[in-house]
Amino acid sequence: MTQADSFQQAVNGLISAGQRIWQQGWCPATSSNFSQRLDDSSCAITVSGRDKGQLSADDIMRVDLDGRSLDGKKPSAETLLHTTLYRRDPGIGAVLHTHSVKATLVSMHADGPVEFKGLELLKAFTGTVTHESSLSLPVFDNSQDIAALAKQVDDHMNETGTGHGYLIRGHGLYTWGPDLPTTLRHLEALEFLLDYYWHASRWQPAEAREVDR
Ligand SMILES: [Zn+2]
Repeated sequence: MTQADSFQQAVNGLISAGQRIWQQGWCPATSSNFSQRLDDSSCAITVSGRDKGQLSADDIMRVDLDGRSLDGKKPSAETLLHTTLYRRDPGIGAVLHTHSVKATLVSMHADGPVEFKGLELLKAFTGTVTHESSLSLPVFDNSQDIAALAKQVDDHMNETGTGHGYLIRGHGLYTWGPDLPTTLRHLEALEFLLDYYWHASRWQPAEAREVDR
């Protein structure tokens, strides 16, 4: 596949992912950003400030893995949070960042990593074959200093492993996977788990923040 072919394929994939995510209400008011790796030194990513439910080819751009524009378009302020993931793990092929109500609520409620265990849907994550597995979503404080936040996330992953996603407090969710369809599956599973966690936290004692079956 030529580089042009792979960019066109990324454009098509990101446009349809945007429609699907927007229909769920997870990317309101031009928020959120979506990307797909093109090669070992660049990715396709949504242009800053576009309506993610009505993306066209003009709304997707190329950046290098330092977050610099390769085609003159303006990348999202959060581009470094995507490219840092591509740099740290060559197996990551797509990154989705959303601003759902449940991700925002849970991120404000949690006072540590959000832990999920004993839930069948954990099998949606690559490499997870049983519901007896657990998944931990770290929560980072929001910041407008994206370079500092990207470093904080990367440093954390050096200690705990890359994992499947993280929350930014009062802001939203990041998740990734080896390709775009798998990353969409991870996103839908995480949104389900966050929804479950939020409802479960209403009927469990406040100190029992872990979701147990
Ligand atoms: Zn955001």
